Amino acid sequence: MHTTINQPRGRRIAIIGAGISGLTLAIELRRRGLEPLVFDRVAELREVGAAVALSANATRYLIERTGIGAGLATAAASVDGLVFRDGRDGRVIGRVSSREEYQATCGAPYYGIHRADLQKLLVDRLGGEGLHLSKACERIEETSDAVRLHFTDGDAVEADLVIGADGARSTLRRHVVGYDDAQFSGCSGWRGIVSPEALADLPDPEAIQFWMGPGGHLLHYPIGSGEQNYLLVRRHDGPWEGPAWATADEEGAHLKAFEGWHPAVQQMIGAAPTGDRWALFQRPPLHQWSRGRVTLMGDAAHALVPHHGQGANQSIEDAIVLADCLIQSLEDGSGWDAARQRYQDVRIERTRKVQIASATTADVLHLPDGERADARNARLAAPDAWERHLGWIHEFQAARSLQPASA
Ligand code: FAD
Repeated sequence: MHTTINQPRGRRIAIIGAGISGLTLAIELRRRGLEPLVFDRVAELREVGAAVALSANATRYLIERTGIGAGLATAAASVDGLVFRDGRDGRVIGRVSSREEYQATCGAPYYGIHRADLQKLLVDRLGGEGLHLSKACERIEETSDAVRLHFTDGDAVEADLVIGADGARSTLRRHVVGYDDAQFSGCSGWRGIVSPEALADLPDPEAIQFWMGPGGHLLHYPIGSGEQNYLLVRRHDGPWEGPAWATADEEGAHLKAFEGWHPAVQQMIGAAPTGDRWALFQRPPLHQWSRGRVTLMGDAAHALVPHHGQGANQSIEDAIVLADCLIQSLEDGSGWDAARQRYQDVRIERTRKVQIASATTADVLHLPDGERADARNARLAAPDAWERHLGWIHEFQAARSLQPASA
């Protein structure tokens, strides 16, 4: 059994992974005349119990390019401001960018949305065209003039260009790098989705909020259903044991770790069963995003810790820039190797900066009481907090990096 990409030789594109970046890239390429095939290992695209916050650097493109703006506005919650609080006494340390200020400054909205809802909007937009599920890619074979992808069901497909959009535990990254380079970040987390009725003490339910304290923090934001999505992060003593990225935790372990924190924190984390405790892994920045005919995108290229909520947003930026580079190379005849190099040149520094900022944010959020925590609080309360710490991420327009400087 062999799947065929019905495109002229030289234009056969296979995208491995129908996650956030893979679907965005497929929609954008199809809109502009290319017909990639997308392969995902799962039988059904449906992740339970997790949401993403989509910032303007990504929603701009979801609205302008993929055309899912109306769907997003219905399925997502519009976030009203970023609030930093002391996790123990609940006092506001800093508050930036109300919903209206955010839209005016960034030119696009800030949304909280369930992952499954986002994926559904993207899949509906793609219209099922070229989407192949239950296809787990296990091996990549480079030949002199093509690349052959082998799937666990025995199928194989030949392509001229392969995009590795297969997420943080990428098989294609291992092909590019040569080994598994996942690094435990030193933090682990519990995730949950809580209904508003359980949150009587929660201030600012429409904001995205960080509750900070020594050794841990709670991040939460509203999603379209009216519920709150949370990620509770704790420093972890010693290395992460075992090969699994998530482990079943002792009942109530997360509550014990946050004893004495503000009632709103306790209410939220006590309201929903947490299930597993997730190790937060990252990947070191790479110098090369391609090997042979395989190019990485999204978490496969630069998996980062979620403390700036940027994994999905950076993945969407990647997809838009890669699509622009590929289309441009067809128009000017420069070829796909040049397009891939251009994509890497434009994205590598940006994603490296966001990766580093995401990792160091945990250290800052988790400072013990004392001088350094006081200095952090003063920085977050300062009138230029947005410009100094967040504007460079949220206001960024990735597609502009491809325009000549004069534009
Ligand atoms: P994914 O969306 O993970 O998609 C990868 C796809 O590849 C999957 O569908 C998978 O089934 C498929 N796949 C994997 N291996 C294979 C294979 N061998 N063959 C075929 N298919 C394969 N990001 C944000 O922007 N905002 C947030 O608020 C946020 N919160 C987060 C909270 C937590 C706890 C975590 C862990 C992450 C969070 N992220 C957040 C990160 C975000 O979810 C990811 O960065 C984003 O989904 C990456 O997109 P992607 O397309 O690279 O990969």
